[in-house]
Amino acid sequence: MASPERRRLSILGSTGSIGINTLGVIAHLGGRDAFEIAALTGNGNIGLLADQARRFGADLAVTADPRRYGELKEALAGTGIAVAAGNSGLIEAAERDADWVMAAIVGTAGLMPTLAAARRGADIALANKECLVSAGDLFVDAVREGGGRLIPVDSEHNAIFQVLEERQRAAVERIVLTASGGPFRTYPLERMRDVTVETARAHPNWSMGLKISIDSASMFNKALEMIEAHHLFRVAPEQIEVVVHPQSVIHSMVGYRDGSVLAQLGSPDMRTAIGYALAYPDRPALPVARLDFARLARLDFEAPDEVRFPALRLARLAMARGGVQGAVLNGAKETALDAFIAGRAGFLAMAEIVEEVMERLGHLKGAAGLDDIVEADAEARRMAAGLLG
Ligand code: NAD
Ligand code: MG
Repeated sequence: MASPERRRLSILGSTGSIGINTLGVIAHLGGRDAFEIAALTGNGNIGLLADQARRFGADLAVTADPRRYGELKEALAGTGIAVAAGNSGLIEAAERDADWVMAAIVGTAGLMPTLAAARRGADIALANKECLVSAGDLFVDAVREGGGRLIPVDSEHNAIFQVLEERQRAAVERIVLTASGGPFRTYPLERMRDVTVETARAHPNWSMGLKISIDSASMFNKALEMIEAHHLFRVAPEQIEVVVHPQSVIHSMVGYRDGSVLAQLGSPDMRTAIGYALAYPDRPALPVARLDFARLARLDFEAPDEVRFPALRLARLAMARGGVQGAVLNGAKETALDAFIAGRAGFLAMAEIVEEVMERLGHLKGAAGLDDIVEADAEARRMAAGLLG
């Protein structure tokens, strides 16, 4: 029975890496005794989605794939759990009356549902960085106008959120994003040309979904994160630095005008950021591995190599141009990434395609209203697909 003190939560993308970790944290913090689940959404993994919906007693389960509606309906028959599918189903999930919504759909597919949740005033725990890369200020404004909080879950941004003192905002000089450097950190360029999806997805420190793992290998993940930080913390592009830190112990830092640098450290485990976003402004007790500094012994740092990893330069170009250029970069990147995963493009071709699309669509500025963003994203995808042949 619904008790008034239980918080209502929804998870958009509950069957992915972040979604599964989120339900793990929810279970650890009391599960159904402490929380009500308004809606869960997935895509192709119907068995897992139905299982999660039953276990957590969700009111609504949604598959993004309309062809799988019947299968989900059947899997949940007799449970009283409502079922929906497709884009309208995702919006329905986002509009359910949850106080807190985890945005963990991968890619721009997450934009419209997350916007819908933001507009009705839910607190948004944001894992989906593409919302900010593509829609930037429009997304931040939607959260502000809705009246909910925006709590970053991406580990770097969650770290910054933890150490960026709002009352000292005027004293912030720089944001330093740490990057592991990925599996190809020490590869010469020639060797990067022929790497496979299997080697690219093998992240040295973090266990994540397929696409973000490959984006980490190309450093497009860090490129997206620079743009994410720009919008989230309203800092100028020149104030955003990237440093390669192979151990992934420092999750990011904020530098202040008195020379102080504040950092958040921890084991590379997304449950810390997820738990922080769920309990904010409190800190929950979590069963993550504790850092053992004597065993760690050292932390290393090096400058990123923008010749082997041109993504970082492309992020700065997108920020300098502003408007819809984040959507152009991301749309081209998602198309090139899908082609690499499908074996239709080489690893280095991803950055080449994004650069070429940004070159050709550099004139697109746009007021960055939602229609401009959707159009720029579609145009970038069409052009990238054309270049892929
Ligand atoms: P994932 O691929 O493991 O899961 C993605 C989720 O989105 C799944 O639930 C899937 O069913 C759903 N989905 C896939 N395609 C969809 C579509 N077209 N429409 C609707 N739903 C769809 O991804 P992930 O690693 O959990 O990452 C999710 C988001 O969080 C991404 O934006 C990623 O960049 C970000 N993020 C992830 C991590 C991590 O540790 N995994 C860290 C930081 C940020
Ligand atoms: Mg990250």
